[in-house]
Amino acid sequence: MEQKKLADIGIFGGSGFYKLFESKYEEKVIETPYGAPSAPVVIGTMAGKQVAFMPRHGEKHQYPPHKINYRANLWAMKSIGVSRIISPCAAGSLQTHVKPGEFVVCDQFVDRTSGRIDTFYDGPITTHVSAADTYCPELRPLAYEAGLKASIKMHSTGTVVVIQGPRFSTKAESKWFTAAGWEVINMSQYPEAFLARELEMCVVNVSLITDYDSGLAGNVDPVSHSEVIKVFGENLTKLQALLINLIGSIPEKRTKCQCAETLKHSRI
Ligand SMILES: [Zn+2]
Repeated sequence: MEQKKLADIGIFGGSGFYKLFESKYEEKVIETPYGAPSAPVVIGTMAGKQVAFMPRHGEKHQYPPHKINYRANLWAMKSIGVSRIISPCAAGSLQTHVKPGEFVVCDQFVDRTSGRIDTFYDGPITTHVSAADTYCPELRPLAYEAGLKASIKMHSTGTVVVIQGPRFSTKAESKWFTAAGWEVINMSQYPEAFLARELEMCVVNVSLITDYDSGLAGNVDPVSHSEVIKVFGENLTKLQALLINLIGSIPEKRTKCQCAETLKHSRI
């Protein structure tokens, strides 16, 4: 892959993030071997650092989670030199102690998607990348601290169940996930986070809790799209403050994690 270092940190998120750029930003249309990414990458300065941003659902929010070209998005970031991916998302809670308006730095995922293309390695070099700890051990505590600094109620760990969508869960499915002890539910973390790992990029998730999924077995009202949008809007400024703190705290060199050596341990 041709690599011109234009930014070290890449963010996938909603279109509200454009305003986080401190000065004029540059838009770059990137072609990838996997087709077109969701949108051009936007490169500029945040917290004094060169950051690349891409709205994962497209500039007009035209790609629902099951239609996102995740490989193209990740490849585009890698091709401009990004080594750290910040992957915030809106999410539902599966446990009563994780409340709407709170944030979870997930450390595990459960893949309940189907039919999504979820690898860069279709051969001929057989490559088995470990997903045991997909999320970066260096970036997770930094994200947690960044949230506390912004006076957000944070959870330092959590498991995100990634469902195929676009439909929300049935009550039975939701009850199952809750009973398993998992905390968070979302539609876009897989394969986004794992593909970052396949390209040896560090990845960190911040889940903004907007609702209680299908109602935690009848204890509260089931999720609706309008409720998600409302709570997300109310908490967007908090998320933005967290991101600025996090970007500012990421060290220049990767010394506390092995994310950069993923492939060394993945091939025979
Ligand atoms: Zn890492």
